[in-house]
Amino acid sequence: MTEFSVKINVGKGYEVRIGSSLLDDCGNIIAKTTSLCRVAVITDSNVEKLYLDKVIKSLQQAGFDTLSFSFPAGEESKNISTLSDILEFLAENNFSRTDMLIALGGGVTGDITGFAAAVYLRGIRYVQLPTTLLAAVDSSVGGKTAIDLKAGKNLAGAFKQPEIVLCDISTFETLPETEFSNGIAESIKYGILFDKPLFDAFASSDLSSNRLTGDKLTDVIAKCVAHKGRIVELDEFDNGDRRLLNLGHTIGHAIEKCSSFKIQHGHAVAAGMAMIARAGEKKGLTKEGTANEISQALAKYALPIDTDFDIDELNAVTLTDKKRAGKKIALIVPEETGKCIIKTEPVEALREYITLGKGV
Ligand code: ADP
Ligand code: ZN
Repeated sequence: MTEFSVKINVGKGYEVRIGSSLLDDCGNIIAKTTSLCRVAVITDSNVEKLYLDKVIKSLQQAGFDTLSFSFPAGEESKNISTLSDILEFLAENNFSRTDMLIALGGGVTGDITGFAAAVYLRGIRYVQLPTTLLAAVDSSVGGKTAIDLKAGKNLAGAFKQPEIVLCDISTFETLPETEFSNGIAESIKYGILFDKPLFDAFASSDLSSNRLTGDKLTDVIAKCVAHKGRIVELDEFDNGDRRLLNLGHTIGHAIEKCSSFKIQHGHAVAAGMAMIARAGEKKGLTKEGTANEISQALAKYALPIDTDFDIDELNAVTLTDKKRAGKKIALIVPEETGKCIIKTEPVEALREYITLGKGV
């Protein structure tokens, strides 16, 4: 099977490798990138059962001295208390400046491990081993790390790039269906933003098997990672073009919040993308037919394209979006599939976008 490598040129640069036996080989690959040291594998209770032994074995065979720490699976764990437990665990074990963390899991594990790496002893190295499609195409690349606060998600964090990212697609075989489609939504996002052929591949029958596997999957992930890498290289600290990656996210976050996070991130973003395209068309910003194209592609993967929450509810929670800069909001609007713009609007305009976006 084909293996892909994408170079991310941020800081000293790092490689994202996408393949199907990378967990088995992770020890040797990591040993070639970094000096041998102690490593602490941080994982959650689900992934621990499935993949921790394999990773520890590979690391030990390559000569690493290993520790592991597991926390209860779920977004509820992405908080200051788990972060504190990780930091105390490292300190109790005399973890030093030259030692390294390894995040084995989905976005929750990657985000909290990256943040621990950013602050422990004012910063140590870390590696990402994403085990969800969502983490593979999104959170494991680009160096955004975070925990949630009571007031909202991802409100405390740091920019901290990993040493290497190894994405082993064989781990996705155990992913529940809805977790997989979560990642598909963010993958389709890259098509809408930058890559008409990638979008068309999702929209056409080409990728229509419910569950992408093998070379088609590695190829799609490599394309998404390359797009993300290019944007992160342009705007590491999220003040400019990186905001494009928020396509579907303003309305999507509102849907997530209104559902008390019962609707998963990718699903909410899917509805947000379809809605902003619909609103864009009605406002004359988006080429006619685009909203339909986007909706059809998303619906093929059982992703939602609208929401039942009412306009007032959605608008109220959107006003607390942290992406908002003062009285303005940066909305990402498709001009057509493969091309989007950043439209800065007064916050009051949001209500109109939501209103126009609703109603299939
Ligand atoms: P993301 O933000 O990437 O969706 P999470 O860290 O929230 O990731 O993970 C989603 C859920 O999927 C969690 O319950 C996690 O334990 C579980 N999970 C992660 N990777 C796998 C996998 N490869 N197989 C089965 N379950 C997994
Ligand atoms: Zn997202």
